[in-house]
Amino acid sequence: MTVAGELMGSPSQRGRFGDYGGRFVPESLVPACEELEEAFDRAWSDPGFRRELDGCLRSYSGRPTPVTECHRLSERLGIRLLLKREDLNHTGSHKLNNVIGQALLAKRMGKRRLVAETGAGQHGVATATAAALFGMECDVYMGAVDVERQELNTFRMKLLGARVHPVHSGSKTLKDAINEALREWVATVETTHYCIGSVMGPHPYPFIVRELQRVVGDEARRQCQEVLGGADPDFVVACVGGGSNAAGTFAGFVDSGARLVGVEAAGGAAMARGIPGVVHGMRSKFLQDEAGQILEAHSISAGLDYPGIGPEHAFLGEHGRAEYYEASDEEVLAAFRLLAETEGIIPALEPSHGLAWVVRQAGRMIPTGSSVMLTLSGRGDKDVALVMELCG
Ligand SMILES: *Cc1c(COP(=O)(O)O)cnc(C)c1O
Repeated sequence: MTVAGELMGSPSQRGRFGDYGGRFVPESLVPACEELEEAFDRAWSDPGFRRELDGCLRSYSGRPTPVTECHRLSERLGIRLLLKREDLNHTGSHKLNNVIGQALLAKRMGKRRLVAETGAGQHGVATATAAALFGMECDVYMGAVDVERQELNTFRMKLLGARVHPVHSGSKTLKDAINEALREWVATVETTHYCIGSVMGPHPYPFIVRELQRVVGDEARRQCQEVLGGADPDFVVACVGGGSNAAGTFAGFVDSGARLVGVEAAGGAAMARGIPGVVHGMRSKFLQDEAGQILEAHSISAGLDYPGIGPEHAFLGEHGRAEYYEASDEEVLAAFRLLAETEGIIPALEPSHGLAWVVRQAGRMIPTGSSVMLTLSGRGDKDVALVMELCG
């Protein structure tokens, strides 16, 4: 159990991580947030719930995922590189860790329907997967522009029995889909759980999603110690969209001596270029114009195109316990190809951002001989067509 006040422990009563976080929702949603907070606290300290969740993650999702040492790439970079293989999880990324936990929690709360937002469609597919597994209804809100851009994932969700609702407001993308999913939750809260996709939104979501993803960091800590003869890695690296795979990874190492590094897409770098503001129920950092309008994020990987960042990352960055850097589309593509060629692993473009930073900094910010653990948050099958188009 975590202790309030500890780094990556429980947030304060009002869901604050320093100046960030909180619960900025219409009054009609406050009881739902409070009910969820209470239900999660009870479930999380209930060994029966933990056993059920662990059992699902093991028998359905394939956990624990391994840690792989990259011998050929390590030699080339002059470091010791280990990958936490979330690409081997069912549905191909870390997303299912969160969704299975929230779906089990929703069932325990007596809800029979899940609503979710999705941008590129990956969180929608994960939510539809969990809904099918547990026999729940599923409605996914997706910007109309994204529905067209991501027709394969739209069809996948339908195959899994979900209804996909195109959202026509605003820029018709992820941020608008989140607003719509929140509205739908307000209207149907008696029967419905809002299954949020990253460490964002009003309290208690950033806390719940981080706790559900900490399995990544907790497993990796033990597995790295096995490989490194009892030592922790010198660097722990993860890519950051909303920040859930990074938060889960960091949670396992926050009390170690490892330097914690989050890598954002240069076109969506809310840590580097964001301004504090209140959006989607939380105070955090967002890409905004001078009038405070939220800007759209743009990068080669749709999974990192969120114009904000989870509030706990904003806090960890200001505190100094974690550091945040950027990677450009060009170096991401090079890193994607490098891992495929040297290790026989085709990564998703999102964690290729983390790898791009490692490749750039090996022998510089990362001293030669250092050990580096990178969370490979997903597999690259979904990105192969795009890379083919870009590189031939
Ligand atoms: C969705 C996604 C991400 C970004 O989400 P976080 O909440 O920042 O982890 C990263 N990698 C993969 C493979 C994804 O599918």
